[in-house]
Amino acid sequence: MTRFQKAAPSLLLVAVITGVTGYIIGCTQEQQERKAQVSAQEANEEPASSQPASDAKAPTKYSPVQARSRDFYTPNSEDLGPNEMRLLACGTGMPTARPKQAASCWLLELGNGDKFIFDVGTGSAERIAAFQIPYNYLDKVFLSHLHTDHFGDLDALFVGGALSGRQKPLRVWGPSGDTPEHGTKYALEHLRKALTWDLDGRAGLTDPRGYHFEVHEFDYMGMNQIIYQENDVTIRSWPAIHSLDGPVSFSLEWNGFKFVFGGDTYPNKWFDKYAKDADFAIHECFVTVPDMIEKFKFSPQGALSVGTQIHTAPEAFGKVMSRIEPRMAVAYHFFNDFDTSTGIYERIRSTYDGELSLATDYMVWNITKDDIRVRMAVVDEDVWPPPATDKPQLPDMSLRIPYSKEISGGRLDVKDVIQPIYDEINKQYGTNEKQE
Ligand SMILES: [Zn+2]
Ligand SMILES: [Zn+2]
Repeated sequence: MTRFQKAAPSLLLVAVITGVTGYIIGCTQEQQERKAQVSAQEANEEPASSQPASDAKAPTKYSPVQARSRDFYTPNSEDLGPNEMRLLACGTGMPTARPKQAASCWLLELGNGDKFIFDVGTGSAERIAAFQIPYNYLDKVFLSHLHTDHFGDLDALFVGGALSGRQKPLRVWGPSGDTPEHGTKYALEHLRKALTWDLDGRAGLTDPRGYHFEVHEFDYMGMNQIIYQENDVTIRSWPAIHSLDGPVSFSLEWNGFKFVFGGDTYPNKWFDKYAKDADFAIHECFVTVPDMIEKFKFSPQGALSVGTQIHTAPEAFGKVMSRIEPRMAVAYHFFNDFDTSTGIYERIRSTYDGELSLATDYMVWNITKDDIRVRMAVVDEDVWPPPATDKPQLPDMSLRIPYSKEISGGRLDVKDVIQPIYDEINKQYGTNEKQE
């Protein structure tokens, strides 16, 4: 397996080293110096495939009128190569909501067209939307466990996705628990019930095909068991140690790549075994104990317990990664700020000196056999839904549940101001719609 530091040098490395300094801590000083030398020599090379088409025409010499290749990612602007994966960080934070970081959510795009969502924590649905991927392609979700910071926006993806172009059920894979009530099937059945009013109100108004879950609950105790195998993609799971019995970690293998997502877990021997030699390994890395006391106002006892015994401390994260030796280690599940990342970094570096990303929302990785490019996405906050990729199915209006006479009778008569809207649209689209 080609490792990142042995990769053929290219302009991409320049971006990794110089473009996102502060987010990415690439490697040892010696490796950085070697890359910097290579970068200086090859700064005028042709850009590689993950560059947008416009960049392919980038001049070999600088020009006052031609654009330079950019070192950030903009959604819906780059093709994905057939032997490339793109990972989008749609949530890297914690259960405590904050504008900067949604809770755990990772969107993996493969060069064969498949896309997978690992966790869909609170706040992540808007990050997913920002990447402007048609919802018909976002129908596969894998849940590491049932804490809200790992599945709290499933309802938003479920309903909002169906409303915006997912014309098929949302397929959800998640672990069983030590009792049926602790399993994914139970959680989703009851989530569906909680949405009864929402879904009943949409009957007869919208394409109905997306408003269904297809639940695949698998044994949380399965050891490196295959839980998904389609289109040359294999996803496996094994147990994690976190909160109660039930949480799991995942690996995804495709086209010679191995991607691993740990979910939440105390360092464990199964991750140590099954994540080995991953190209890409995401593992939780919790807030440092001093910051838990200082910023989260934990007691020293509480901080030690949660920060080192329930979750994975940065030093332990580093030890795990030193053992499994991924091409890229990704730390998440901490508030990644200017005054917290240094503490995390130094503690990880006390036990690990390989490739490292301290994840934050909208970080993007392009992964090929000989390169891993890391950038931040620049997203449009005014985003609208991407197009539906198939023809919509007209709803059966007879399924609408009517208002009661009392509620219906409360309507104010505004037909006179509404009629011009009907006239305008009927004229423009050649329809003959009438007010109710
Ligand atoms: Zn958790
Ligand atoms: Zn968590």
